[in-house]
Amino acid sequence: MKIIVDRSRCAGHARCAAVSDSLFELDESGYISFDEKLVPDGMEALARRGMRACPERALTLDDDTAPDKK
Ligand code: SF4
Repeated sequence: MKIIVDRSRCAGHARCAAVSDSLFELDESGYISFDEKLVPDGMEALARRGMRACPERALTLDDDTAPDKK
């Protein structure tokens, strides 16, 4: 699973980081700091929660590799 960020939509609410500050790292201004990131094993549920927490819909998950999709 991969987190894909549309940084042009990020408004710096930090709601994603409130779910997991290690998955959703912010820069010093409080905006998400990456374009794509692989989700470590076992953190998929947190990634989904963080994505749903973003009011700007800046986050998408590429979960083609999720076992339940195969
Ligand atoms: S919740 Fe969304 S808008 Fe807020 S910092 Fe995270 S990605 Fe950006």
